[in-house]
Amino acid sequence: MRNAKNKMELIIHPHELTDRWIALAKELKLDRVSIHPIGGMNAHETLQELLKTLKDENFRAQIDKLTNSGIEIGYEFHALSYLLPRELFSEHPEYFRQDTTGKRTTHGNFCFSNPQARKIICINAIKLAKELYGSCNEYYFWLDDAMHLACNCDECKKHSFAHHQLNLMNEIVTELQKEIPDAKICYLAYYEGVAIPEDISPKNGVFLEYAPFERYIKPETFAFEGEYLELVKKIINFFGTKNSKILEYWYDNSIYYRRAGNKLVPFTPNNEQIKADLEFYKDLGFETFSSFACNLCDEYAQLFGEPDFSAIKNRKI
Ligand SMILES: [Zn+2]
Repeated sequence: MRNAKNKMELIIHPHELTDRWIALAKELKLDRVSIHPIGGMNAHETLQELLKTLKDENFRAQIDKLTNSGIEIGYEFHALSYLLPRELFSEHPEYFRQDTTGKRTTHGNFCFSNPQARKIICINAIKLAKELYGSCNEYYFWLDDAMHLACNCDECKKHSFAHHQLNLMNEIVTELQKEIPDAKICYLAYYEGVAIPEDISPKNGVFLEYAPFERYIKPETFAFEGEYLELVKKIINFFGTKNSKILEYWYDNSIYYRRAGNKLVPFTPNNEQIKADLEFYKDLGFETFSSFACNLCDEYAQLFGEPDFSAIKNRKI
């Protein structure tokens, strides 16, 4: 019996939203399809391209097909360099983070302790939310996509990366809700964000999204056990299970696409792992189960046939 709280979602690149994917979403009984422009340190540019695409009538028609059949649309992306344009550096270097040598840099994120920078980010977050055609009320404005992008100024060093990330999301959701009353925003537990923010609590509307990326980049050392598992449990407890979401890589062919030199390669999901994960994550309290499913596009299906989605098609939750 499926629990009404539990949702299933797959995440694809914008150009992959074709009639075939819409049919797949229905066949797999997905609750939501999310659109993800490519990440990395150029994510602010791929986000800009997405915003152009969202003005295209044909693309909007594809979104409408999904929402009209009861499937939600979400948008998930690394947004910080978009929300605080790098061009501001020449006039306001103080908005930007200090690297480990003490130099201000536009390379990723910003100076979390600068209130004016946070204000600009909030204003741009509201504008951005309104541009996301057909979006559900959950927003995913992730920080930039790399490790070691904390600010090293004296003020920022008083708190952890996790504290600063939550403080920013608290401010964004407060401002967003003035214009979109039911807006929610995720706290992404990813890289240094996999930690408990100290001296702060999540505001109403902030929910946990946990992405165990280390599992895929360091599979030989990663394990859901011991201290690490305890930490994940504490993080869920800190944010609460309401709207909590696991962001998995079960169907992420983009990892293999990149490793093959940007070439489509056959993909075989680990069905036993996916089935076990669904139970495991549900027991931890997660309500939404999502996975990247990028680079399983129409061209992929023509080359290699349809991917095997049986593990989620036959899910019991
Ligand atoms: Zn700082």
